This record gives sequence, structure tokens and C-alpha cells, in this order.
Amino acid sequence: MKGILERALREINACSELSALENCRVKYLGKKGELTVFLRGMGNLSPEERPVIGRLVNEAKEEIETLLLCQKERVLKLERERSLKEEEIDITIPGKRFARGKRHPLTKTLDEIKSIFLGLGFTVVEGPEVELAYYNFTALNIPENHPARDVQDTFYITEDIVLRTLTSPDEPRVMEKTKPPIRVLIPGRVYRADDVDATHSPVFHQIEGLVVDEGITLGDLKGTFDLFVKKLYGEHMETKFRPSHFPFTEPSAEIDATCFVCEGKGCRVCKDTGWIELSGAGMSHPKVLERCGIDTTRYSGFAFGMGLDRLTMLKYGIDDMRLLFENDVRFLEQF
Ligand SMILES: [Zn+2]
Repeated sequence: MKGILERALREINACSELSALENCRVKYLGKKGELTVFLRGMGNLSPEERPVIGRLVNEAKEEIETLLLCQKERVLKLERERSLKEEEIDITIPGKRFARGKRHPLTKTLDEIKSIFLGLGFTVVEGPEVELAYYNFTALNIPENHPARDVQDTFYITEDIVLRTLTSPDEPRVMEKTKPPIRVLIPGRVYRADDVDATHSPVFHQIEGLVVDEGITLGDLKGTFDLFVKKLYGEHMETKFRPSHFPFTEPSAEIDATCFVCEGKGCRVCKDTGWIELSGAGMSHPKVLERCGIDTTRYSGFAFGMGLDRLTMLKYGIDDMRLLFENDVRFLEQF
């Protein structure tokens, strides 16, 4: 009996897995286990021996059961420790790098321009992209037979509704609602029936500026634009006016600025002239002001329009407009 007990204790202590422990239990205490078999064989013993041996066997049985329980707890604890170790997080493994979003170059340029004009006392306003033909043409003094109204250039929704072809329609919209002094900057998307190429897109962006107040002259336009260009591209920048014609301004001018690539010396970007065209502008046509109920004997104004896409391309040396719209991350992450 002592031999069985010692062997059982040794084997149980050596178990490191629950399945091995169960095997031990079956081996000694199961239906055909060694102790069970021993108990069954007790019929052969003499009546004097039976109680003595029976007590010994029962004590051995209890001892084995207690030991099985203790060992079971130990094994469970070991298994828990083992699984914790296996699932441990290795904090020294390099992490995954997440791609960081960046602002689109158009947005960056626009934000910069906005902040310059906000500093000059302008308010930023936005208008509808689907616009009444009245605001897009008539209110801007564009005559009925003007080529700008042609269906080949303009996306018509109905006869009276268009996708705006310029940001200028917001000028009369502002002037109808606001009394002078007016100082607004109007950025937005505009649409023209152009084919896509390196310098054209059916959708592009304009920034419009309008100032209406008493005693506004061409000098104010020149001064404002000069200051803007110096703030955007640097103090060395100069501007010059070239006579032009627009239905909604009189007189009208194209505003050129020093080429900021060659600083006026002449290069590929400015086609060796030293100047680049930045804006179409002029004094607001009295007919445009009057149509909005503005007293032109007291007030005058100037307006200018710029292509945000062009300004951005010039600023960053981008030579193909399509890059601004394709949203290729490899391109965009450079800014
Ligand atoms: Zn140049």
C-alpha cells in the first residue's frame, strides 16, 4: 500500500498538464484504478485484517484526492502564466506609420489670400454655383448677344439657370443686399465648357474682389493690388496695368506682377517678359452699380478677379492643371 501511495504522489507531483493529472486520477482512483482494484480484492482478507487495511486504503485514497486537487491548482496557475507570457505585447516592435493628411495646395493658397484680404478689412462671402443667368450675365452688363453667353462656353441647366462661369455674379448679389462701404472677397468654383488639358478644366476656381465706397479710384485698386501681391509673394514684387476690356468694368485692366520665378529677369514661366498676368480688374461699371440701386453720383467701386488655380500653379511651379484635380496622394503629399 505504501508503495502505491508513494508512486502515486511522485507521479502526481510530476504532472504539468491537466490531461496528465486526469490520467493519474484514473490510474489510481478510476473504476479499474489500482486502489479500487485493491479494495475489491479485500474479500480475500481475514476479518481481522479487513478494517485495518480498509482504513489504510481509505486514507491513501483521501491523500491522493487532496494531492490531485492541490496539483490541479498549481497546473492551472502555470498555464495562466504561460498564456500571459505568450500574449505579451512587445512594445519594442516598430509601429505602423499612418499617412498624415495635408491641405490641398489650392486650399493653402486660398487661405493665404483670404488672410491677406481679411487684414485689409475685407469680408469673405460665397455665392451659389448654380446661378440665375440674370446674375451671371445681365446684372454684369453682359449684352444679350455677347459670346460669353454662348451655349458652347456655358453649361445651361435651363434657359435661365446656368453653372456660373465666373465668381462675379456674387458682386450684384452682395450689392443688392448691402449698403456701401462694401469690401468683399468672393472665392469659389466656376464652370466653363472647356476640354481638359494642361491649362484648362471645365471646373476651376476664381477669387473675386469688390470694393464700393465714396471716392474710390483706380489708384485704390492699384494700391490694394500692389499690397496684396507684395504680401503674397514678397516685398520686391511690382504690379503694372495693361488696358483691357470687360463688360462689367470701365475702365478695365489686366494686372501683371513681377515674375516671382526670375524676379523680373525673364524665364520660361514668364516667357522672358519678366511679368506674369495675375488678374483682370477695373472700376465697377456704373450700369452694374446702378442696377443694384447704388447711387453712382456718390459711390464708385473697383473689382478684380483672379484664377486661384493659376496663382497656385505659379506659386508652386506646377506645370499641369490636371494635377490639382486628380487627387493623386503622391502629388498632394508634397505640399
Ligand atoms: Zn520669369
